[in-house]
Amino acid sequence: MTVDTENQTRLYGVCDYYDAESLLTAGERRVLGRLRSFLDEKARPLLADYWERGEFPDELAGPLIGLDLMEPAELRGPEGSPARGIYQGFRIFELARTDASLATFYTAQAGLFRTAIRVGASAEQQAEWMPKVIDFSLKGVFSLTEPDSGSDIAGGLSTTARREGDAWILDGAKRWIGGAATADVLAVFARDTADGQVKAFLVDRDAAGVTLEKIHRKTALRMMQNAHITLDGVRVPESMRLHNVDSFRDVAAMLRAMRSDVAWIATGIQAGAFEAALRYVTERKQFGRPVGSFQLVQEKLARMLGNVTSSLSLVVRLTEQQDKGIYRDQDSALAKMQTSLLMRETVALAREVVGGNGITLDTDVARFHADAEAVYSYEGTHEINALIVGRALTGESAFTR
Ligand SMILES: Cc1cc2nc3c(=O)[nH]c(=O)nc-3n(C[C@H](O)[C@H](O)[C@H](O)COP(=O)(O)OP(=O)(O)OC[C@H]3O[C@@H](n4cnc5c(N)ncnc54)[C@H](O)[C@@H]3O)c2cc1C
Repeated sequence: MTVDTENQTRLYGVCDYYDAESLLTAGERRVLGRLRSFLDEKARPLLADYWERGEFPDELAGPLIGLDLMEPAELRGPEGSPARGIYQGFRIFELARTDASLATFYTAQAGLFRTAIRVGASAEQQAEWMPKVIDFSLKGVFSLTEPDSGSDIAGGLSTTARREGDAWILDGAKRWIGGAATADVLAVFARDTADGQVKAFLVDRDAAGVTLEKIHRKTALRMMQNAHITLDGVRVPESMRLHNVDSFRDVAAMLRAMRSDVAWIATGIQAGAFEAALRYVTERKQFGRPVGSFQLVQEKLARMLGNVTSSLSLVVRLTEQQDKGIYRDQDSALAKMQTSLLMRETVALAREVVGGNGITLDTDVARFHADAEAVYSYEGTHEINALIVGRALTGESAFTR
């Protein structure tokens, strides 16, 4: 394969066509390089088997956490300033370029749960919990979706929270919650029976009244463990309520940040699928020539590269805006919507150019192809994100509730 050979030290070759990586500092690239080595040497060899069995490779969790990726000590400025958005984006990209479940697993803590604490916890609560969130000594998940409410969760959320002295009693059910089985606490969103507003609670995973059931027979993200959670009269102390969550408006602020992470995941998946496909068509011969030498295959390669490059340019620019403090619902919704749309085409083209072998786990593209379907639907479906953008464009809400 002919790639840019001008700079041999680049982490990303052809899948970062316009060299977005040059926005990273040398220190950031070093940390990402460590992640690359871990993924290539320790994770990659395990993926196909675990995916087929529908199990998460638990032996990877400790070493992955041990890489100190969330707020790497070596990237911390003199004032302990947080890692830059562009580094965090490339961290997700790198994970997803290897495997969507690994990216989702890491982002459940570094994106979803951390965002719940950052946006929802009071200053005192943050001082106590955030260091533990960052070093994973407090593992948590984001429990918003319910069996009967996904897209319409804002109005449909029916899990209840009833105040009883210094505690709250939670009743209801949550669905699809990623990583719940290995979490210490579940960030649960519930409607206060007194004022009808949505509040948030950190619920001990082992608390009386909490039941977790693994969701079986998934055809996407098979390695990622998702749970159906039942809450039956679960008692939670007031001290474990996230004190800055007073209504769904605060939840929406969390979703805004989380959708950008998923846009990076959708971009990373495309990079992984494209690279695997490019490798294959360079090696595979038909009619006495590499498959990649045929004009019709090259057109598909060009489309895949166009999709990856558009997606990466989009998420990099979004992240630059967010690093300046500009967060708007429609911006992250547009990024999630568009990168997911392109992802679907990219993984389908990748699978196609690999032919029959493209439906086996041996060539990687089948895993990306299947996993992309879950990413397409979570963190706001295509339609819901389109409606958020449409509302911003026209001033008219087309949601029906
Ligand atoms: C693998 C996976 C992991 C997940 N992880 C988590 C997690 O960790 N925490 C969490 O809280 N949730 C999680 N989710 C839930 C996820 O966010 C929801 O699946 C998603 O919001 C969609 O909800 P739904 O599946 O109930 O689909 P539905 O809301 O039932 O939608 C079905 C279809 O109807 C369409 N639709 C709905 N309303 C409209 C409308 N007004 N106009 C047009 N079309 C509409 C949708 O776009 C979709 O195509 C996860 C989901 C998956 C699949």
